[in-house]
Amino acid sequence: MPAQVIDGKAIAAQVRNEVRMAVDRLKAQGVTPGLHVVLVGDDPASAVYVRNKGKASEEVGIAGVTHHLPAETSEADLLVLLRELNASPGVDGVLVQLPLPKHIDANRITDAQDAARDVDGFHPVNLGLLLSGRDGLVACTPAGCMRLIDSTGIDLAGKRAVVVGRSLIVGKPMALLLMQRNATVTVCHSRTQDLKTRVSEADIVVAAIGKARMIKGDWIKPGAVVIDVGMNRGDDGKLCGDVDYAAAAEHAGFITPVPGGVGPMTIAFLLRNTVLACAARRGLSNPF
Ligand code: NDP
Repeated sequence: MPAQVIDGKAIAAQVRNEVRMAVDRLKAQGVTPGLHVVLVGDDPASAVYVRNKGKASEEVGIAGVTHHLPAETSEADLLVLLRELNASPGVDGVLVQLPLPKHIDANRITDAQDAARDVDGFHPVNLGLLLSGRDGLVACTPAGCMRLIDSTGIDLAGKRAVVVGRSLIVGKPMALLLMQRNATVTVCHSRTQDLKTRVSEADIVVAAIGKARMIKGDWIKPGAVVIDVGMNRGDDGKLCGDVDYAAAAEHAGFITPVPGGVGPMTIAFLLRNTVLACAARRGLSNPF
């Protein structure tokens, strides 16, 4: 039986709706969450991402502000802006769009952010809280993937999960989230031997590699949940994931398409994180 498609667009719309209602609850208490996005330089893809984040903020009632700085902005000047934002009471979320120009040390910028406003969940304090199983701001893409997995209704306890990719923004937090939910987690990467066997053992596969259609259909265990984070251009020039979708859908129980799977979840969870950060910073109860 072909896989059920996990509709990321529809689930992201639900999350945005929940955010809109949470924002309304905050507004009823006199608080409007504010999300500040910092863009340095003129990378066209980054400009599109930042524009989309601004638009999505407005749609749910979050006050979105974009700080567009020239490419030659020094690290010191960027740090000055971050310190100003960290000290502004109306700023609930701050996001510095990556990649930064080469002359700026991205780690130093992340470290300079206020962890309580780090809606990307990349600050070492938030990563440490996740590692400790404590409440913090969780990276948006892995948090979105968990929601997609949960939409299948599968109980993760004792299931075998394989995460392919170990980046700080996707693979590692993903593995921690799955472990927190009592899955037995294997993390694979470029030095993993016999990736096919590892993947074929998995009840849940999360692919976050960045290589077009690398995970083949016949690697997938019958009935498995397949979450494809990859966003690549295939040889045909079309957007595609890290999983060979058509073939994998013949084996999987549930699968995310690309586009329309994980992608829409990332912005939805950015908005959610902004609202969570807003309530936590201001000592208000969780509005969700
Ligand atoms: P990175 O390049 O930071 O990490 C890629 C990971 O894949 C690394 O851990 C790397 O291993 C591993 N890898 C590379 N080649 C292989 C291989 N042949 N076999 C097994 N593992 C391999 O990427 P990101 O985590 O940032 O992103 C991954 C993908 O997800 C990209 O396509 C990106 O565009 C997409 N993405 C999509 C988002 C969305 O919203 N939909 C958000 C973020 C990312 P090693 O560590 O050994 O180098």
